[in-house]
Amino acid sequence: MKQLQATQIEWSSSHPIHQQLPYRFPNGVEFKGVNARCGQCGADYAADYMRGTLSTLNQKQCLMVAKGFCGLCNTITCFNFLIDGSAEPKIMDLGESQQRHSLPQQDSALQEH
Ligand SMILES: [Zn+2]
Repeated sequence: MKQLQATQIEWSSSHPIHQQLPYRFPNGVEFKGVNARCGQCGADYAADYMRGTLSTLNQKQCLMVAKGFCGLCNTITCFNFLIDGSAEPKIMDLGESQQRHSLPQQDSALQEH
């Protein structure tokens, strides 16, 4: 439960990914985003519901660590993507995307009113 709340708070305080896009590599290649879907029900995320950070690893790689909150099934899915910008941006899933956190129905500050 504590872990769950930490995830929720982290999500709330993160910036939407789309505000940080496009990501431009030094060689001019642009990464314009990824169509991530809810790991639980497969719904597309509203842009503002994919939140996290893009960090530069080196000249040709950046790391996207994001969490998507799905209002339909009330879950957060974690995404860890390595983006290779050598030519056309290539996205590698680092494997933890399947990790899911179900949020309790009550005391959820994330619900839309
Ligand atoms: Zn869902």
